[in-house]
Amino acid sequence: MTPAKIYCDFFGHNYEMTKKVTNHVKEYTCKCCKKQLTTDSNGKLIELTPKYQEINSTLERIYSSKLMRSKQKSLSSSIY
Ligand SMILES: [Zn+2]
Repeated sequence: MTPAKIYCDFFGHNYEMTKKVTNHVKEYTCKCCKKQLTTDSNGKLIELTPKYQEINSTLERIYSSKLMRSKQKSLSSSIY
């Protein structure tokens, strides 16, 4: 056990948002022990496991390509 871990166990984690995956899904990292959390599809905070890291990167790809498409759509519709 590292001192940071003991601190967190005692006082609770000090999470900070590190990544916005979509409007609803975000990733958080504890400033002390670097433990990572993410929001699941129900909006609950859960541990960021490799499985969820994969899900999030897929979500992020879908989300950003959707944003891109909607931007292109509004651009082309403003031309006509
Ligand atoms: Zn912590």
